[in-house]
Amino acid sequence: MAWRFALTIDPANPSDARDSFADTFTVIDPSAPALSVGELSTQRGDGIFESIGVIDGHPQETTAHLERLAHSARLCDLPEPHLTQWRQAIDTAAAACGPGESVIKLILSRGVEHGPAPTAWVTAATAPGRSAVREHGVRVVTLDRGYAMDVPARAPWLLLGAKTLSYAVNMAALREAHRRGADDAIFVSSDGFVLEAPTASLILRRGDTFVTPAPNGGILHGTTQLSVFAHLEAQGFATAYETIPLTDLTTADAAWLVSSVRLAAPITAIDGAALPVDAELTASINRYLLSPRD
Ligand code: PLP
Repeated sequence: MAWRFALTIDPANPSDARDSFADTFTVIDPSAPALSVGELSTQRGDGIFESIGVIDGHPQETTAHLERLAHSARLCDLPEPHLTQWRQAIDTAAAACGPGESVIKLILSRGVEHGPAPTAWVTAATAPGRSAVREHGVRVVTLDRGYAMDVPARAPWLLLGAKTLSYAVNMAALREAHRRGADDAIFVSSDGFVLEAPTASLILRRGDTFVTPAPNGGILHGTTQLSVFAHLEAQGFATAYETIPLTDLTTADAAWLVSSVRLAAPITAIDGAALPVDAELTASINRYLLSPRD
């Protein structure tokens, strides 16, 4: 099942203070053509997106996702998203989701070539079942991302840290991981620091401290990682953002890939070397991630 909504955005009026934007949403038949062939999202991958987990009709971490959408828009020189309008679009899509797990996608593209305005739409669909990876974990391989840690600052036009629609490289990395007999990948900078997975953040455990790569290394700041850190801190654990050398991966006491729809998947092996799994802690993190979060 999928539902889409077209948003009419007035880039000249981002502070429009209307109470309701319902009249700006158009329901689109998900099985019918909806985009112009001149769309820059399809021609060049020129746009940004968010994937929001929905549990029993409740969209998780809406504010964090909208903040990241606005951050990506700034990095890409797209018009500032009207957050009240997007929030209402999310609520409209969430109201159409049934019980269980769903996913809402927000997409903001630069629009049609030479067109007057960006194109925006929202979809809602049943989420793919992820209980097996949450329980049984994933085997990962490390893959060179091909740039050093100072590249994001030296070359901001690479848009590292923005959630752009250009995910072909991330998908190619997943295929390479599968070719190497693994389930997923962890990108490593060319100077030897761990970054993120193609569609997830990485969290490592060292004793009672949980660490994740600092987002200044050109990675997405994950909403799920932020949520998991807040949960762990409330349990009395220490958390930290660090520049993490590759050698720290295999000596970790445990590690997880986390993202909005998969939630927390324990890493069972890295480049063929087994990693300890804390099944009880993983289950409690996933119970927390499945509870309503704003
Ligand atoms: N890093 C990348 C490259 C991603 O694509 C994603 C999610 O799709 C994440 C991290 C995790 O982000 P979030 O927890 O907000 O889903």
